Amino acid sequence: MSVLERLLKAIYPDRCPCCRQLKGIDEPCDDCAVVLKKQEISGKVCRRCGLEKRFCCCSQYHYLFEGVAAPFYNRDLAKDGVYGIKYKEAPFAAKYFGKRTAESFIKRFPDVKPDFVCCVPCYSKEARKKNYDAVEQLAKAVADELDLPLKLKALKKVRATEKQHTLPQDKRQANVKGAYKPTARFDGKTVLLIDDIKTTGYTLNECSKQLRMAGAEKVYCATALMTSKRQENALVKTR
Ligand SMILES: [Zn+2]
Ligand SMILES: [Zn+2]
Repeated sequence: MSVLERLLKAIYPDRCPCCRQLKGIDEPCDDCAVVLKKQEISGKVCRRCGLEKRFCCCSQYHYLFEGVAAPFYNRDLAKDGVYGIKYKEAPFAAKYFGKRTAESFIKRFPDVKPDFVCCVPCYSKEARKKNYDAVEQLAKAVADELDLPLKLKALKKVRATEKQHTLPQDKRQANVKGAYKPTARFDGKTVLLIDDIKTTGYTLNECSKQLRMAGAEKVYCATALMTSKRQENALVKTR
């Protein structure tokens, strides 16, 4: 560890990315690790929608990406961790969740070698106001972990959208339609597109469409969290 790193560690000691308590490690503490394990998307997983096969939702959507990988369901401690990045309460957690997102991508698509990593952009006014973009933080951590080039500005958002989770299902596709544009050509490239949370996949789909229209041959996606109504319903039944 360099002097600078040691100094930074003294000022910003490592915290658990889930409960944010000072633990001197930047991995989840033992208590959080046990809970987090239960939120992993594991077992037989559909490579297309990224959910466990028993919760597969592929028949409901027409995906324009090759597949999507995510390490966790959007609930409990995994949600706390990622929302901590999202709302800038715990930006340091991007490193851990980025690492886990990268690992899930390698696990699902061991044969895929993306040319670069990019991310779902937020509308410039939002980012300027906060001077912080959680999805960019996550994409940086993923690119670092996979040792891939990062093109944060491959896509730009050209208009504001409503937050997808606040809208009914039938309004979500229209909400993101035409909201993103490519900033360059990506002819023949294989792209890894990052977002923080996948719900219906409409946002990833719309961004994938733009990347494909800009020449990308294949688009793969990875997110830190995935929401699944079927998984949530199954949980309720077992309670
Ligand atoms: Zn913890
Ligand atoms: Zn599926």
